[in-house]
Amino acid sequence: MNQNIADQAYVREINLSLVLRLIHTQSPISRAQLAVVSGLNKSTVSSLVDDLLESRLVHETGSNTGGAGRPATLLEINPQVGCIIGVELGVDFVSVAVTDFLGNILWRRREDADSTDDQDKMINQTLQIVKEAMSIGKKKNYHFLGLGLATPGTVDVENGVLTFAPNLHWRNVPFVKIFSEQTKLKVFVENDANAAAIAEHLFGTARHSQDFLFVFAGVGIGGGLFLNGELYRGRNGYAGEIGHSPIMAEPSQTVCHCGNRGCWETYANQYSIIQRVQARLEVRRSSIIPKLMAEQNAPLSIPLIKQAADAGDIEAIDSFNEAGHAMGQGLAGLINIFNPEKIVIGGPLSVAGEYLLPAIKETVTRHALPESMQHASVVLSPFGPDASLIGAIAIVANNILSQPTNAKKDKK
Ligand SMILES: [Zn+2]
Repeated sequence: MNQNIADQAYVREINLSLVLRLIHTQSPISRAQLAVVSGLNKSTVSSLVDDLLESRLVHETGSNTGGAGRPATLLEINPQVGCIIGVELGVDFVSVAVTDFLGNILWRRREDADSTDDQDKMINQTLQIVKEAMSIGKKKNYHFLGLGLATPGTVDVENGVLTFAPNLHWRNVPFVKIFSEQTKLKVFVENDANAAAIAEHLFGTARHSQDFLFVFAGVGIGGGLFLNGELYRGRNGYAGEIGHSPIMAEPSQTVCHCGNRGCWETYANQYSIIQRVQARLEVRRSSIIPKLMAEQNAPLSIPLIKQAADAGDIEAIDSFNEAGHAMGQGLAGLINIFNPEKIVIGGPLSVAGEYLLPAIKETVTRHALPESMQHASVVLSPFGPDASLIGAIAIVANNILSQPTNAKKDKK
């Protein structure tokens, strides 16, 4: 390919992506409207739309009959262009889902897993579920567009390697290599909070926000930061490790999974809530939590504490409240630094969102500067505990929206 043709192909790919993203965010939309919002001329838009129709990434959906003049045919994303497999690796579970191109779940499975037990064992367990998803998909004639994997820790996205996950105690795991060899699919890996932030931007509550922070709250507290409409990765791709901000490194404070003392997440993560409840149970006996644990023959967990809170248990409610205040303090600092439009909270702890959110909002309002807070809202992710699972789906969809010809090439 000579340089001139290569340049033309490059420009066409950028324009295809621009038009595809506009159809994604503004559908249903006509070719004429696309020309106006993209700044491209009408014939260029028509030719790009023809390409997108041919690759089945978009389809026509009725026509715009309002107003004067000829009715215009409207376009939208075709969710049936293909399926995506998403994998979320948690510290104590693995989740796999198959969705359409717009993240609507068609199949899913979640299994308990033990990341501290044996790395290979957990990866094999995950691969088994993925292979089952693929064989079910094959029977239903699904066309798989790719596989996305969301994992805690720092990820080298370019090389597809998890470099370090303190909460899993894993280092240098070449996920893209392992999963592409085993599935023959195009594989992408991303930090769980970053993936969830991309999902929020593509499918969720931040579709029209340019500056927002996604907060993954679970065993750890991770952040995915969008600045000026782009995921902010930092110098080495590791930005957003908000949970390891040192708050107070007192010798008495719990040691974090990263090895340090006094990290913010040790005050606000799910273990901190369990510890708060345990401490309360040692001095008071009025709680229904011991009874629930005995009835269910289960250890203390966030869902169980949530169940107690739902029944009005004051120890459970107060423990969530305290953790919510701790979460709010960290978020207030981030609001002062980044002046975001939105803070979106998701991940396993969001099952208790109704108990955490009032305390978070109260503390944020008290500690963030009023000017920074003025237009900021703190909301729960519509995907709740599945935020990173949908994130794993979103990183594949996002890649196709950026490079639409890849999806076309993959099709026989
Ligand atoms: Zn830490």
